[in-house]
Amino acid sequence: MPLSSVRSALERLLLPAECLVCHALLAPRDAERIVCPLCRQRWRAVRPPWCERCGQPAPHFGPCRLCAQWPSGLLAVRSAVWLEEGARRAVHALKYGGLPRIADDVALAMAGLRPAAAGRSALVPIPLAAKRLRERGYNQSDVLARALARVWKIPVCDALVRTRETPTQTTLTPETRLANVRAAFGASAQCPMIIGDWTLIIVDDVFTTGATLAEAARALEQAGARRIHGVTFARAAIPDFT
Ligand SMILES: [Zn+2]
Ligand SMILES: [Zn+2]
Repeated sequence: MPLSSVRSALERLLLPAECLVCHALLAPRDAERIVCPLCRQRWRAVRPPWCERCGQPAPHFGPCRLCAQWPSGLLAVRSAVWLEEGARRAVHALKYGGLPRIADDVALAMAGLRPAAAGRSALVPIPLAAKRLRERGYNQSDVLARALARVWKIPVCDALVRTRETPTQTTLTPETRLANVRAAFGASAQCPMIIGDWTLIIVDDVFTTGATLAEAARALEQAGARRIHGVTFARAAIPDFT
């Protein structure tokens, strides 16, 4: 039995069949879920009007500052829900709570984000720094990409590698985030989908300033990728950023 199946079987044994967010008992048909359907409906969707490229609520004046410096191959990024309340708890469970199985619930919320692509598409997880991977035991972006791959029925390609460890982004300002992830990624020779007629869709759990996605896209673009999209489950509101 693969380790991931052992883990999810163990989770089922150890957890009561109740919703992680509201603690209501889950109906038998939702026994595989971690969050109940009602709580999933309460996650507040990110909706237009937005910048067509980065999906951020559109600025009132002038061009969008958030995506102005992005590599040209990164065509569009979309997020499913705002990072608040229940969605924040779901991200926390996925990232720090040792609950990778919640990725299936999260992937369902992302089902509508699939970019319209002319040719074939593949999902690309953001690789985790080796030290954090050892601590956590799994990469939440990888688990999420694989859950989304089951929903969209497209392959996952490990097209990115970490070229250096980076301090956690969570305490950084928008300006320092970009410097922090600069040259943090490279492209993997293992992924044949970087070249050819593929659209690569980078997957991450949270979008804050887009610095990580932009840097990951830069590495793919330098390796020959031409059409890159990004999707995240949640989007954090950036204070004082318009
Ligand atoms: Zn609930
Ligand atoms: Zn933008």
